[in-house]
Amino acid sequence: MPFYPVLPCKSCPQPIWLPFPSPDEAIRRQIPWPRDWKPRSFVCPLCRRVYEYSAEDCQWRHIGSPDQILPSKPLAIYRLSVPCDKERCAGLIHIHAVMTEGLPRHAVVGALSQAYVMNISCERGHRSSGSWRGDGPIDVRQDTEWDS
Ligand SMILES: [Zn+2]
Ligand SMILES: [Zn+2]
Repeated sequence: MPFYPVLPCKSCPQPIWLPFPSPDEAIRRQIPWPRDWKPRSFVCPLCRRVYEYSAEDCQWRHIGSPDQILPSKPLAIYRLSVPCDKERCAGLIHIHAVMTEGLPRHAVVGALSQAYVMNISCERGHRSSGSWRGDGPIDVRQDTEWDS
């Protein structure tokens, strides 16, 4: 299957791979995105910048040769959630990391070490930028909204 869905990182050449599509999705080039079509924040595995991406950012990238940096294991989208730090806000900030399936929690949390968030939004719309604080309770789960 020569085409794979990616989010091109907004600050470096690294593509953020999305989980491999089913053959059916690949044929139809169906954009893998949760049904509400709202933006989601993703961390880049290379530069660690976190940006918001929308479904329109998703591209199908052609992979020419097998030795090109294709991930070798099935991928999963993990969602890391922390409370918004704006005053009295009850919303959460969600950041998504695409990593291989079945990782332990600490490995997933490690995706955000040295991360830098770029104007991402909490559930209530507060915007944050700056170094990832990495403190406080982090909820980690595999994000099932991406299963269609
Ligand atoms: Zn990047
Ligand atoms: Zn907030």
